[in-house]
Parts: sequence; structure tokens; C-alpha cells
Amino acid sequence: MAQECIFCKIINGDIPATLLYEDDDILAFNDISPQAPTHMLVIPRKHITGPDALTEADQALIGKLVKLGTDLAAKAGLTDGFRLVMNNGESAGQTVFHLHMHVLGGRAMTWPPG
Ligand code: 5GP
Ligand code: ZN
Repeated sequence: MAQECIFCKIINGDIPATLLYEDDDILAFNDISPQAPTHMLVIPRKHITGPDALTEADQALIGKLVKLGTDLAAKAGLTDGFRLVMNNGESAGQTVFHLHMHVLGGRAMTWPPG
């Protein structure tokens, strides 16, 4: 738990979020500023600052995160495709330094991402 972390505050219930899933390790909720018709975030409860802070001990956790993201995409009816994104570092667009995976879908995506 990091005191000033927005996502830790969502985990603690200090900031409201539309929860889509939660268990002892991870939770998922809708992004407050959706960049696609479906835009969900999947995060670990553990405060990890980003992908580059993952340790070997976190490998099962990150696997669980990706699996939940794909399950939620299926549940949201994203049969045409969806995108899983993790930004690492400011120049990559990371703004919240609590590891999270974006699940985006419901529109055609461009490649490469900007
Ligand atoms: P990043 O830019 O770090 O990859 O993604 C952070 C994401 O968190 C952004 O898409 C942003 O809209 C979302 N976000 C920031 N603050 C909040 C919040 O208070 N609630 C929710 N649900 N999403 C947030
Ligand atoms: Zn945090």
C-alpha cells in the first residue's frame, strides 16, 4: 500500500470504482477515462510500481492478470479482438505508478500505437 497511490485507494475503497471482478490477489474495474467502447483495468492488490518492478515471485500473479483480462474481454463480447496494454515509464505513457493492464476493445485499433 502506497499512501498517495490512486489505485491503492481504489483497493481500500477510499475512491469509488465500477468493480468488475475482485479476489484476494487482483481486481478489475472500468477506466475512468475510456479510450475505447470497452476500457477496463486489471490490477494486483499488491503495490508494484510497474512491469519493470516485477520479481520472479510475481510470475503467477502476472499470469493471473492476463488470464482475467482475456476472460473479461470474452465476457464483454469482444469477439472481434481486443488489446492488452501495459505502459512502463513516463515516456511510454504511464501515469499511474501501480501496475495495471488495460483491456481495450469495441473499435478497430491502429498499429503501431502512438
Ligand atoms: P496509464 O496511463 O498509467 O497506463 O493508465 C492509467 C489509467 O488509469 C488511465 O487510463 C486513467 O484514465 C486511469 N485512471 C486514473 N485515475 C483513475 C481513477 O481514479 N479511477 C479509474 N477508474 N481510473 C483511473
Ligand atoms: Zn498502489
